Amino acid sequence: MFPQQAAIDAEDLSRKYFERALRVCPGGVHSPVRAFKGVGGTPIFFRSAQGAKLISVDGREYIDFCQSFGPLMLGHRDPDVSGAVEEAIETAWSFGACEPYSLELAEWITSRLPWVEMLRFVSSGTEAVMSALRVARAATNRNRILKFEGCYHGHSDSLLVKAGSGLAGLAASSSAGVSSQVASETLVAHLDDEDAVRKLFDEFGKEIAAVILEPLPANYGLLIQRRDFIEEVVKIAREHGALVIFDEVISGFRVALGGMAEVLGMRPDLITYGKVIGGGFPVACYGGRKDLMELVAPAGPVYQAGTLSANPVGMRAGLATLKKIESENVYEKLEWKTARFCEDLNGDLKQRDLPFQLTRSASIFWLHARTKEPIRRIDQIPSHHASNFAKVFHRALDGGIYLAPSGYEVNFMSLAHSDELLEHAHDAILRAVEASQLGNG
Ligand SMILES: *Cc1c(COP(=O)(O)O)cnc(C)c1O
Repeated sequence: MFPQQAAIDAEDLSRKYFERALRVCPGGVHSPVRAFKGVGGTPIFFRSAQGAKLISVDGREYIDFCQSFGPLMLGHRDPDVSGAVEEAIETAWSFGACEPYSLELAEWITSRLPWVEMLRFVSSGTEAVMSALRVARAATNRNRILKFEGCYHGHSDSLLVKAGSGLAGLAASSSAGVSSQVASETLVAHLDDEDAVRKLFDEFGKEIAAVILEPLPANYGLLIQRRDFIEEVVKIAREHGALVIFDEVISGFRVALGGMAEVLGMRPDLITYGKVIGGGFPVACYGGRKDLMELVAPAGPVYQAGTLSANPVGMRAGLATLKKIESENVYEKLEWKTARFCEDLNGDLKQRDLPFQLTRSASIFWLHARTKEPIRRIDQIPSHHASNFAKVFHRALDGGIYLAPSGYEVNFMSLAHSDELLEHAHDAILRAVEASQLGNG
């Protein structure tokens, strides 16, 4: 079922493509993690995908736990989503004008998620976050933003920052090309540290437009937060008149229909969604309080637009995905499937005294170096984790398992991962960890 005999040719074909790609795109890719820099080696080129499987250019099959970094809750090319996409193609694939498809999706979302009183569709999570920040700055007439080290919010300038080396809380840009002036308007705190947040608000409270966080940080490992911490951050922000933005691009519609806002029973002022919302097409949105969203053009003075925004193919794929997730009780199924997979694998890893473990939340899991305490901040990730993960990744790959190609990326379960495939994946990952010479320093 997982013929690996063509391994040599396989590598060659992907390598040939990659050599060509390197000539025409920076690093050979259109998004950095795809280049395998975090794990080494040549990235595999894939020709097609179906359900839980990826098929490489040379015909090798892999069980896919990357799932396009999260959007594909139902797996690749789910038949219901595929039907909606075909229908869309038959009618129109772009209008640049008013149409009922985005209305249907907007009504579907706002009728289920009470904290989304109004929303605006955009084409990427980056755009959604960037626009939400603009609204927050306009609404509060303040310039500063507070974010957390280890949360990812896309690549807009004000969020490409990390903790600076100077004064606590002041950020430095984490990318060349971001002006230091823009970076200086973002403050950075560690996760799991409400005291640091309080101190920053004591000092800069009147200048902070919003605090933005991933309520389930899942872009630098899976850093599950204490509920108290999130509650305290929200409380402190509100005391100082700052808005609260939940960036649920990865957790929204993934951990529950209402994402972490539903799980925590909290109501942010603004919220961003992406990934699952478009079922694998480029769809994202920002939304929240009506009085804030009415600041957006043409209703209000905050400009934001998009030629392909609310693209009808994406709208219909998104709606078909969400409807199926709701009607087929997908959360319960995925919870059960992922819990069993992770618990069994953790049990076997522990029994064999292997220095690796899985941390899970709903259908998201992270494979990482074993630690005594749960990891809640990035500085708690063992320094040897990345190199150990690289070894495990390549052994798993040889065994027909495609994990997200970085030790800091999480993995995703989809509805299409059958018991049979998961059994195979269990054995292959266990063997990969066992066979890797894992260091611990
Ligand atoms: C993926 C992600 C983004 C960026 O979304 P893109 O569509 O890649 O621009 C922003 N925030 C979070 C929490 C994400 O997981």
